[in-house]
Amino acid sequence: MPNQFVEIFACPDCHSGISLITHNDSVIGLFCENCKVVFSVKDGIFILLPSQARNYELELPLLEEIRSIAIKSANRSLLSYVENTIKLVSSMRNKKGWEWEDESFWSKKYSRLYKDDIDVNWNLRLWQREFLLKQLLSRVENLNKKIR
Ligand SMILES: [Zn+2]
Repeated sequence: MPNQFVEIFACPDCHSGISLITHNDSVIGLFCENCKVVFSVKDGIFILLPSQARNYELELPLLEEIRSIAIKSANRSLLSYVENTIKLVSSMRNKKGWEWEDESFWSKKYSRLYKDDIDVNWNLRLWQREFLLKQLLSRVENLNKKIR
């Protein structure tokens, strides 16, 4: 396994550095030595999703490709990492994998930001804005009822 260190990227789970997995001079994935998982690459885009937001449909075919390369090249550590990761994404099979659909993931993330008083640009999350607007409107309605 090449140990080329990708400095600008970090593992979305443990934040340690991740390394490239190359095959025939192209990057086919990344791996985190600490978590022993693999991240796939689709059309040159690194799919760096945290474990609670991994996507079965998107990632499984890519991971199976990495697995077959690991088998062919007899790379046992890569094979064990990719098998860990296939187990992980398979457990996400019936869940909404994308993090923008994962409300528990985002509510945890945003409550942390809120607690630390970090400004969030809610315009970037239109789907969440509708939810917040509904919440706000229902509070205003309740307030109106109390006032009357
Ligand atoms: Zn990690």
